[in-house]
Amino acid sequence: MPDDAKTVSFASDEANPLLLPWQTPFETPPFADIAPEHFLPAFERAFADHTAEVAAITHDPAQADFANTITALERSGKLLAKVSAVFHALVSAHSNPALLEIDKEVSLRMARHWNPIMMNAVLFGRIVQLRDNHATLGLTAEQVRLLERSYTRFHRSGAGLDEAKKARMAEINERLAHLGTSFGHHLLADEQDWFMELGEADREGLSDSFVAAASAAAEERGLVGRAIVTLSRSFVEPFLKTSSRRDLREKVYKAFIARGDNGNANDNNAAIVEILTLREESAKLLGYPTFAAYRLEDSMAKTPQAVRGLLERVWKVARARAWKDRDALQQLIVQEGKNFALAAWDWRYYAEKLRQISANFDDAAIKPYLSLDHMIEAAFDCATRLFGVTFTERKDIAVWHSDVRVWEVRDRAGHHKALFYGDYFARPSKRSGAWMTSLRDQQKLDGVVAPLIINVCNFSKGAEGEPALLSPDDARTLFHEFGHALHGILSDVFYPSLSGTSVFTDFVELPSQLYEHWQEQPQVLRQFARHYRTGEPLPDDLLRRFLAARKFNQGFATVEFVASALLDLEFHSQPASSISDVRAFERRELEKIGMPAEISMRHRPQQFGHIFSGDHYASGYYSYMWSEVMDADAFGAFEEAGDIFDPAVAKRLHDDIYSSGGSRDPEDAYVAFRGRDPAPDALLRRRGLLETPEAA
Ligand SMILES: [Zn+2]
Repeated sequence: MPDDAKTVSFASDEANPLLLPWQTPFETPPFADIAPEHFLPAFERAFADHTAEVAAITHDPAQADFANTITALERSGKLLAKVSAVFHALVSAHSNPALLEIDKEVSLRMARHWNPIMMNAVLFGRIVQLRDNHATLGLTAEQVRLLERSYTRFHRSGAGLDEAKKARMAEINERLAHLGTSFGHHLLADEQDWFMELGEADREGLSDSFVAAASAAAEERGLVGRAIVTLSRSFVEPFLKTSSRRDLREKVYKAFIARGDNGNANDNNAAIVEILTLREESAKLLGYPTFAAYRLEDSMAKTPQAVRGLLERVWKVARARAWKDRDALQQLIVQEGKNFALAAWDWRYYAEKLRQISANFDDAAIKPYLSLDHMIEAAFDCATRLFGVTFTERKDIAVWHSDVRVWEVRDRAGHHKALFYGDYFARPSKRSGAWMTSLRDQQKLDGVVAPLIINVCNFSKGAEGEPALLSPDDARTLFHEFGHALHGILSDVFYPSLSGTSVFTDFVELPSQLYEHWQEQPQVLRQFARHYRTGEPLPDDLLRRFLAARKFNQGFATVEFVASALLDLEFHSQPASSISDVRAFERRELEKIGMPAEISMRHRPQQFGHIFSGDHYASGYYSYMWSEVMDADAFGAFEEAGDIFDPAVAKRLHDDIYSSGGSRDPEDAYVAFRGRDPAPDALLRRRGLLETPEAA
């Protein structure tokens, strides 16, 4: 046993809130009582409990059956799931140096704990035996799916390898866990270290709401009475769009794309090389030629070729549009009487100008109509109309930060369904981006367990006494994450490992991206986009211009995304030995695809947490686009019905997509909902990248 385990005593267990039953409303975590020092002892106990539960399965002298093997596995590890969920929620949304230190330890211990379970030959033998005989076991459809998923999980973890290969696999997993965790920590540290103060002369072009948010961010860091820009995307993008100070745009842009690539203690280049080498080695141990081949086998796409096919089709169309836009932006610079060539830090600024000219629309005009509270109300209302769920704010639930709000979700009959936590504002203790996670997943194995679902965003706060106002992108993010949240809230499966978002990565963005469609419906905007001061609804003229402007600059948005997705695929397809210098590899690949120099990838490798902070999206960043093929097509079902809340379509959407979690094959689920496979061009049409004839 490692030395640090000696400090764990049973006396401390008795006072450890993570190990006591939670006598709180809905058995929610008592965040006020939980301190960093409670985690390691709680994890120790949880690992020990889980190991004992698994040992009871493998030592069971009875012949393997579904109940004593698969169901018993589903029942195991409850404490570990509970402690992990709280820990990971905090470490992402509200970390501190103590938690980050513990995170390093936990990720290593987690790998050490799971390796012997996922590679347990006896356990795997029982699963294989059940799988071979599944037709004779009288299983329900969900049980058949669970058995297949369990087999696949163990098989793909190396449970069928010989002992020497297993030992190497375990070493690799431990090292990857360490590297992934430090990748994320480095990124957070580089983001926390940098800010740029805005003096009076530095505010040219910036909106009042931006300056207010910059003041709030300064206050958050103890710089009262000043204003700063941080490296949070919700600061960087609006700054690049609106600041007329070209020198400052360049400064902010360069700092943003240099995160994790500064040659300091937070530099991620070496970690990337090692991660790719180890991933390749583990794929080869399992008999796959590349990590991408390994990874994609267990997805809807199935092969790297299928992914490349989709990305390249979109790439060509998007790049052509981006080139056209680039020329128009350069034209604008010339018209201003300036003689510099459009650079990457100019694109958003001139695109915004062009949008104001051609679509007569800018974000600042609509922001007053998109207050955070109104958009939350809109997201909830759409869910009520589609799925019958209602939301009531609760003030009696413990939270991890005073900004967090909690709502009780009830079903159509008024029964408790879930709790929804919304943590919307940026702060230094939060990692960048927006995400959904859970403190507890839905299941019915031993009675109904209601889920606790979280959305985390990084929106800027409003000025003193004023509400937070969202940009159109922020509003879309709110709906996106709430779509994920609904996937967790509406989950209606029996077994925990099939709950909610436990689906293929290239399917998981369907519920979230589909939900974005409601945010931009005139019917929804007319009702909820009301001026935060006057309460007046969004004027029709502005609404029309807003919707038209949505398709603006899509060449840029698609190029920055697809370039990242293609690079992710190349990182995991090419021999790791050819990637000893990440920057050189990045340059070479971008040159190969003909990346426009004026656009940078949405995520450069050194800050690409999706694929390097863990392996969830590794060789899987394309998933957003794969899901988009489905979501663009899926919303068409409502349009064809002539009602964006059509009850019959909504019921199918609930039954086949939002509530079925991983209990069904995703392709079957989609076809059940839509009656056919998705039509691939819907995505290009939605992004406005397919020129449709005027008369069509
Ligand atoms: Zn998402």
